[in-house]
Amino acid sequence: MKTILVVGGAGYIGSHIVKQLLKAGYHVVIFDNLSTGYRKAVLGGEFFLGDLANRDDLQRVFQTYSIDAVMHFASFIQVGESVHQPNKYYQNNVVNTINLLDIMLAHGVKACIFSSTAAIFGEPQIIPIDEKHPKNPANPYGRTKWMVEQILADYDKAYDLRAICLRYFNAAGADPECQLGECHEPETHLIPLVLQTASGRRKSITVFGQKYDTPDGTCIRDYVHIQDLCQAHILALEQLLQGASSAEYNLGNGEGFSVREVIETAQQVTQRAINVIYGDNRAGDTARLVADARKARQELGWNPQFADLKTIIQHAWQWELQQLKATE
Ligand code: UDP
Repeated sequence: MKTILVVGGAGYIGSHIVKQLLKAGYHVVIFDNLSTGYRKAVLGGEFFLGDLANRDDLQRVFQTYSIDAVMHFASFIQVGESVHQPNKYYQNNVVNTINLLDIMLAHGVKACIFSSTAAIFGEPQIIPIDEKHPKNPANPYGRTKWMVEQILADYDKAYDLRAICLRYFNAAGADPECQLGECHEPETHLIPLVLQTASGRRKSITVFGQKYDTPDGTCIRDYVHIQDLCQAHILALEQLLQGASSAEYNLGNGEGFSVREVIETAQQVTQRAINVIYGDNRAGDTARLVADARKARQELGWNPQFADLKTIIQHAWQWELQQLKATE
């Protein structure tokens, strides 16, 4: 049985991955400092409370377990915050990742799945965006992820550390079995905020900017279901464990929805009134990010099951209603 270390396994994406890895029969070790994740979101495996900034924590986990591959999800992810607090982003997303990579090498672990982002591309020159599209991140968050991708390429050349970088467009939705879902504190992502407004947990949703160069003036994003992201990770991991070379894949559905369209779809799904306020642009945002994910389909055999925005929002709504019940 292969042992997989999931760094950041208590977070939104990491926790869904842990569930799927356990289902697929892997031995899973979770490393998380619980700064933004939740212990209760870890549904199995062996939990190790530790911090990437602390090399002793990392040493302990690598000495305790014989790890075959690492999946790295532990990073700060807020575009707007990264513009105002870049030090926080470079320190955690870059410096702490180097700690992790160096400990991996010291223990001969040379396989890594890295959680990357469409934010590495910046304002696109061509839509949809394929893997070769020029990288010109528009904010520090995107720059940290692009830096790590480049560090990984150098580590491959110098140390034979193989990495598959998965560039998510907009991860969204929740576990269809409703055991897990999105739960950031504070929440900054569009779909959970819209649904919290629909459920009454929030008074309103603010649309960030309405003068972008898009048909309705609001930003367009490509929303991809968390469950489909999990499938791509498991496929990439299998390939990596079988000796595949380093690679990168864009993960999205190839269809963009504006902020207004997301709100309209949420209104249809929830059948509730959603109070919308129009505000200024958010720092670091680009007008349009839509994926060309043909490479993932062809090379990984990725086959998204929940590509429809309505389904993504339905699953997120099911989760929101459950959260609401728990707080009542
Ligand atoms: N957005 C918005 N209001 C919010 C949160 C997000 O209008 O309260 C917009 C944001 O500007 C972006 C899109 O929704 O165009 C998706 O943002 P999110 O933070 O969910 O994901 P990101 O694209 O930053 O990964």
